[in-house]
Amino acid sequence: MQSVAGQPVIVGSGLAGLLTALSLAPRPCVLVTGGRLGADSSSVWAQGGLAAAVAADDDPSLHRADTMAAGDGLCDAGSVARLVGAGPGIVALLEGYGVRFDHDAQGKLAVGLEAAHSRRRIVHAMGDSTGAEIVRALSARVRAAPSITVLERTRLLRIEADGQVCAALLSRDGESLRLATASIVLATGGVGGLYRDTTNPLGSTGSGLAAAARAGARLGDLEFVQFHPTALATLGGDAPLPLVSEAVRGEGATLIDETGARFMETELAPRDVVSRAVWHHLAAGHRVFLDARTALGARFATRFPGIDAACKALGIDPAIMPIPVRPAAHYHMGGIAVDADGRSAVPGLYAAGEVACTGLHGANRLASNSLLEAAAGAVAVAECVSGAHAVPPDHTGRADLRADDHPPAHAPDRAQIRRIMTNAAGVLRDRAGLERAIAALSPAAPGDDASLVGLMMCLSALDREESRGGHFRTDHPGRDGTAIRRTLTMAEALARTGLDAKRLAS
Ligand SMILES: Cc1cc2nc3c(=O)[nH]c(=O)nc-3n(C[C@H](O)[C@H](O)[C@H](O)COP(=O)(O)OP(=O)(O)OC[C@H]3O[C@@H](n4cnc5c(N)ncnc54)[C@H](O)[C@@H]3O)c2cc1C
Repeated sequence: MQSVAGQPVIVGSGLAGLLTALSLAPRPCVLVTGGRLGADSSSVWAQGGLAAAVAADDDPSLHRADTMAAGDGLCDAGSVARLVGAGPGIVALLEGYGVRFDHDAQGKLAVGLEAAHSRRRIVHAMGDSTGAEIVRALSARVRAAPSITVLERTRLLRIEADGQVCAALLSRDGESLRLATASIVLATGGVGGLYRDTTNPLGSTGSGLAAAARAGARLGDLEFVQFHPTALATLGGDAPLPLVSEAVRGEGATLIDETGARFMETELAPRDVVSRAVWHHLAAGHRVFLDARTALGARFATRFPGIDAACKALGIDPAIMPIPVRPAAHYHMGGIAVDADGRSAVPGLYAAGEVACTGLHGANRLASNSLLEAAAGAVAVAECVSGAHAVPPDHTGRADLRADDHPPAHAPDRAQIRRIMTNAAGVLRDRAGLERAIAALSPAAPGDDASLVGLMMCLSALDREESRGGHFRTDHPGRDGTAIRRTLTMAEALARTGLDAKRLAS
């Protein structure tokens, strides 16, 4: 690893990681990713598209207003203006990298509609394969870029930081590597893998969040998880649930139960509202289906070929049959607290994409704003890293906390953590459930990444004694008069559970 020592290290090869590396070019960098380039990412599964005010009847100010309304009082207005304003430019940039978005008969960008958008502004590719098309084009560019060293099948374990970032500790084929660097960009995606039902790759368990927290970063808005109301209700188990995109409801599909009756006034209400309605209806003993027979019928297979294939693999033909659905953990609004340029509280540590908390989403993400955030965040972070002061590659430092220093005491297995998080920090939460989860996750949190992230999420959910956006407390169903955003460090979290972070790090 000598030849790349000192170069910025980007972790993750979804949209945020790929575009950060490309935007840094020709400055050399190392792109580290747990699987193959672009694989094991949410990006490659993104269906509906990327929100950008590109249509003639649209304007970034309208997109901004919709984003702020969905965020339920907790958006950072500056971040919203900046990221949403970047939308049209991001679409052009991606096209420049070879992404083939769908166009209408007049040759204009085709734009779809999703919940809580006041205009059609969802730019998509190959119908419902937007993420796959973006990842295909960017991965090809990354592989061809001489400035980017790609390390596949390589995982980030820890970040060494001693007042500032010193090195990335990696694991590859059972071997440990230490990469000296002054700049690490985390683009490691979300936390859906911590839940029993999720649309995310199961590896999305917040390992980047844990590495940042162990290096001293502040994490923000951790309690806000978006549950998608219409995951395809397969048997579940150890596989992610295929998503039935909101764009299907955008085309007029309705939610019905086993009697054929609708139970919502508008299916395009914000996602948290629809998810709770579906959850309550399921809890009342009903089955819930998405019915696209009238709205789309035979058009379904051409407009949504990927979803059509996933349904048909289960013996469901959406043209003539209602699709069984249930809510699943889909997107984490919280993440590493960063400024507009993606800087965390630890000098040299940056974040972009879903793992970052920029304040764009507030308490609830507006559909298709996350691909936009991943792309716009990547461009901003690359600019910032390019201008950052480099330190000598042999700069050495001390790891704040290493997992192997403190082997987890009775770490719950992944299935247990997924059960704990689903029951306590799922669609509905309350104090008693959160306190039980905190007690169960605390003992292993100092050494086990999933337990640490789960613990910090539950503590944040416990602190928010109100219901807002994606966070619903059955014991505090109302909304507070004042909207407050909170951050939490690992040291604060462990101190609250009676564990002393300083003692554990020594
Ligand atoms: C099914 C589905 C559909 C979606 N549809 C849309 C949509 O239509 N529009 C929209 O805007 N958003 C959509 N989203 C959300 C959106 O796809 C994600 O928020 C976005 O792609 C996140 O991009 P990212 O680059 O931040 O992370 P990801 O794309 O998740 O990439 C994370 C990367 O980090 C790697 N990684 C993680 N941990 C480590 C580690 N410790 N070491 C090394 N590598 C690591 C992973 O292997 C992966 O390469 C969808 C999400 C899902 C799951």
